[in-house]
Parts: sequence; C-alpha cells; structure tokens
Amino acid sequence: MKTRLVFLGPPGAGKGTQALLIAGKYSFSRIATGDILREAITRETALGRRAKDFMDNGALVPDDIVNEILREKIESTGNGYIIDGYPRTIPQADFLSGVASVDMAVYFDAPEDILVQRIVNRRVCPKCNAVYNTSENPPKTSGKCDRDGSDLVHRSDDVEEITRERIKTFWQKTAPLVDYYFRRGLLAKVSAGRTLEEVTAEIEQAINSS
Ligand SMILES: [Zn+2]
Repeated sequence: MKTRLVFLGPPGAGKGTQALLIAGKYSFSRIATGDILREAITRETALGRRAKDFMDNGALVPDDIVNEILREKIESTGNGYIIDGYPRTIPQADFLSGVASVDMAVYFDAPEDILVQRIVNRRVCPKCNAVYNTSENPPKTSGKCDRDGSDLVHRSDDVEEITRERIKTFWQKTAPLVDYYFRRGLLAKVSAGRTLEEVTAEIEQAINSS
C-alpha cells in the first residue's frame, strides 16, 4: 500500500476534500502548507515568527521558510501522510525528495469550467479547515460545519476572475510537476470532475495498487 502521498491539481479540483477523506479513512496525516504555516504562527515557533513578518507586510512567505516548516512537520509525523498543495514548483519538488519519500503523486485532472464553479460555491470552516460545496458537498445544516458547528465562510478570493488567474498560475508553475512525477514512475491521474465518491474510489484504487 502507498502511504506517502502528494496531491497535485488546480484550485477547485477537490484535493483538500479528498485529502481529509482519505486521511481520515487510513489514519494518514494531512499536511497542507497553509495550515502548517498558520499553526507555526499560532504556536510562535522561530520559523512561525519569521513567516509572520512576511505575511504582516503582505509578502509571500519565501520558499526556504515554507520548506523548513514542512520538513519539521514531516519529521514529526509518524504514519502515512498526504501533502496537499505542495510542492508547487520543481525546486520545491526537489527539496521534498531530499527530505521525505513520496510513494505516489495523485494528479487531479478536471475541466476548467468545473473548477471555477466549484471554487465559487466553496465554503470553508475557519476552525477545522473542512471544505464544503453548496451544490456538490453541502454541510448537513446550511452554513454550519458538520464537525464543530462553526459558521462557514466564503473566502473573498473565491470568485470567478481570481479563480481563473489562479488556474492559469497552476498551469504555468505547477503543471510541470505532473511530468516530473510521471517520469519517476510515481504519477496516478484521477478524473476529478466526477462525483466526490467516484473520485475517492479512484484514489483508493491507486493507493492499494502495487
Ligand atoms: Zn469545522
């Protein structure tokens, strides 16, 4: 079984949702760089304080800080893991291969219009980071997180114009990673435009294949 996974795909492909589902089912850790950055900042670690200085100034947190926070997280993670939203560039993929093993990179492939529609309908829990979709994956009670009852939020950048820009950035910077992992014999491609259950089943099949 493959236990050390990377999830790759454009925004709206459903990586975060599937990462939570699969991680829960197999007791893997879900490692999302946005979450671990926020966690390092909340815990006021040395790296977290450095990251906060950049974010407070509206700047992107540089790769070397993100990489180190990721390394610390991977080293403290016992079982399997799913790295969600990282690597985004070839240099990050090279860094990752130096500090951790990757058994499989799952590429979430979906048509752009489906991606845009999903993002615009996306709602997230500010407390546990669970991701919902008002049409495909609604919470049990409208506007509330199933896990902790928090009020769900619609992120201000989850609108069509910004989403199309983010998809373009994915194609420019991150899509080369599909080829990177393919050439290493590590790529599994899933058709992410289908239903939540169908995509989960396809990922599980890939995890359990030899
Ligand atoms: Zn929640």
